[in-house]
Amino acid sequence: MKCRKCANKAMTYMPEHKLALCRECYSPWFLDYMERTIKKFKMFTRRDRLLVAVSGGKDSLALWHALTALGYEADGFYIDLGIEGQNHYSALSRRACEMMSEKLGRRLHVVSVREAVGAPIPDIQQITARQACSACGLIKRYTMNRYSLDAGYDVIATGHNLDDEVAVLFANVLHWNRAALARQYPVLDEREGLKKKVKPLVYFTEKQTTTYALANKIPYIRDECPYAVGATTLYYKDVIAQLEHRAPGTKRRFLDGFFALRDLFAEPEPVTLTACSVCGQPTTGTVCAYCRLVDHVHRRLFHPLPESLPQPTEV
Ligand SMILES: [Zn+2]
Ligand SMILES: [Zn+2]
Repeated sequence: MKCRKCANKAMTYMPEHKLALCRECYSPWFLDYMERTIKKFKMFTRRDRLLVAVSGGKDSLALWHALTALGYEADGFYIDLGIEGQNHYSALSRRACEMMSEKLGRRLHVVSVREAVGAPIPDIQQITARQACSACGLIKRYTMNRYSLDAGYDVIATGHNLDDEVAVLFANVLHWNRAALARQYPVLDEREGLKKKVKPLVYFTEKQTTTYALANKIPYIRDECPYAVGATTLYYKDVIAQLEHRAPGTKRRFLDGFFALRDLFAEPEPVTLTACSVCGQPTTGTVCAYCRLVDHVHRRLFHPLPESLPQPTEV
């Protein structure tokens, strides 16, 4: 198969775009397509300071690389979850982020869950009997928001791709989870102490971000988080892949159709947020879920609460 732009041998064919591209033409296409997505959803401009949540995986590192290539001011933010196990997940993923920081010449901010909360994710899971992914998601959302506010960043960017978003939408519709549907959008504007959050890879499949990572020799870790293995989302992704195979473009039409109708799912009365009595971050209650988690962990570890949370270190 030949590249549509230059007639050289194609490296990839994307049936949903009816487009074949060679190695040289792929990255310019990817960057142009991402730029158009950023503009379509009014995500940010070149005057904004972006904080990119990086995990060491292909999506978030491809995002950081592509934003920098497009001339955006984007620094990385890595949360060390303290997950070791046989494949040294946290140590290796952190190293991948550090290598990317050096390659791009951009700062990488690192926060350790062990230092911030008092215990790494595997211990927190045991102490709280909470699903590891739910505690982890809470800590990530809280830490990113708090740090971007403190360090003066304008926008938080995450590497969620089309496959992630379609799988979440599928689950939200399957369970008619109205609150989650109301929040699912590639841009969430800033409000009451919550930073603006964007997903610039929303229109790229996992295969497309992988191709970008390979074409640009991005060193990423292939291992998924050991706690995510077997998650229901992976099952939904399999089902959706079968639908996409039968009718290319199904994922994109499902997501765009939802975006066009999403006002129907808006909450009648948006919840009011107040400042957490412990940390001052926005919450719907008196003490935020993060502070309650930290308190729970500290009680179990027989340590008093620290007076202030440790500051992130810079690399
Ligand atoms: Zn070409
Ligand atoms: Zn709090």
